[in-house]
Amino acid sequence: MAKAWTDYLGKNKDRFLNEMLDLLRIPSVSAKSEHKADMQKCAELVKQRLLDAGCDKAEVMPTSGHPAVYGEKIVVPSKPTVLVYGHYDVQPPEPLELWHSGPFEPVIKDGRVYARGSADDKGQFFMHVKALETMVRTKTMSTNIKFLIEGEEEVGSPNLGKFVEEHKDLLRADVILISDSAMLSMETPSLDIGVRGLSYIEVEVTGPNRDLHSGTYGGAVANPITVLAKMIADCHDKKNHITIPGFYDDVAMPTKEEKRLLKKAPFDEQAYKNELGVKELWGEKGFTTNERIGIRPTLEVNGIWGGYQGEGAKTVLPSKATAKISARLVPNQSSKKITELLLNYFRSVAPPSVTVKAFEHHGGEPYLTPIDSKGYQAASKAVKKTFGKNPIPVRGGGSIPICSILEKELGVKIIFMGFGLDSDNLHSPNEKYNIENYYKGIETIPYFHKYFAEG
Ligand SMILES: [Zn+2]
Repeated sequence: MAKAWTDYLGKNKDRFLNEMLDLLRIPSVSAKSEHKADMQKCAELVKQRLLDAGCDKAEVMPTSGHPAVYGEKIVVPSKPTVLVYGHYDVQPPEPLELWHSGPFEPVIKDGRVYARGSADDKGQFFMHVKALETMVRTKTMSTNIKFLIEGEEEVGSPNLGKFVEEHKDLLRADVILISDSAMLSMETPSLDIGVRGLSYIEVEVTGPNRDLHSGTYGGAVANPITVLAKMIADCHDKKNHITIPGFYDDVAMPTKEEKRLLKKAPFDEQAYKNELGVKELWGEKGFTTNERIGIRPTLEVNGIWGGYQGEGAKTVLPSKATAKISARLVPNQSSKKITELLLNYFRSVAPPSVTVKAFEHHGGEPYLTPIDSKGYQAASKAVKKTFGKNPIPVRGGGSIPICSILEKELGVKIIFMGFGLDSDNLHSPNEKYNIENYYKGIETIPYFHKYFAEG
């Protein structure tokens, strides 16, 4: 098998790369309505590529938002079935002036593909399409494979839950495989074993019924910006613990074995600081940096505004101040419960000198894959096979809200097998994906199917 796969990849390398570039040329920005036609066009191309790769059927399927693409290759119904999830939509490319080349005109430089969506997630889900082709053409399929490539991941998958619920039978599988994350490095391969959950709220504080002269009224009327800033500052204590009552109640700590494995991830604090341009790191006392961004929940202000923001100075006591605030959650916190706690906190601690409106934006549940599961073991063996090293399990800091929904609806585990790197500039200007990683992924994925079928 191994030789047939590497031979096939060797013969088709250029085409595999060019086909990925074709996908990157379509500006499938899900957040912007002006790209609606591009979304459809991109979905159609994904469908065509699935058919070209050997799927028995592939379809562009409508949702209440952007369409999802479904494809399948059923070899023998009695064999295990792997559902590959990915997304063809991308983040908006702005600010455009910071890109060295057009975000939708892929450029190859120093062994990297530069384009929006190269790593997140077109380049990554497409590895699975090419891995399928490799297995079909070399007649080495060991599992049935289904694809669910959606178009709304970057806007929080608002319609996918309903879609999955309505198409449970179509999507039925024994495991779900996702390549939409990074590994530590090519030298230190790793596998994400979880994603954090999310609670996202907005708080608006209103003081007087209009902007006031700060000389005439300042000192007599509460300033909503000061009040909001104080409420936010009080969310962390001196040890940088979150003070919101009940916030940590349901936090599950990792098992001893998991903690031992997580500790293996190398971390160079000085390099980390240099890369970010900060003199000191910050975080919850009693935990390492890796723990703070993986196994612990956090609270961040994502934006804050109010008052005069134009040129020069204007002496005003503003009527309103607003902030967007989000928490990253870990097992077994519930997004719904934490959102309620956050909303209650801001409503209840506000002094009577202001009124507070607080509401929810969106949320998602945390997700964790057990390292002793059959799927994780297959992924670990596959990475060991092509990288020559056992991957380190890592808790991802980000969120993929659809994970908990997929598991709930389909009743199977999700395996994260990402081949990106943290330096890929996801959601930032000059997003890139290393061509070496792309080929390595195509080489590794067939082993996952083989080992999962054997396991
Ligand atoms: Zn993504």
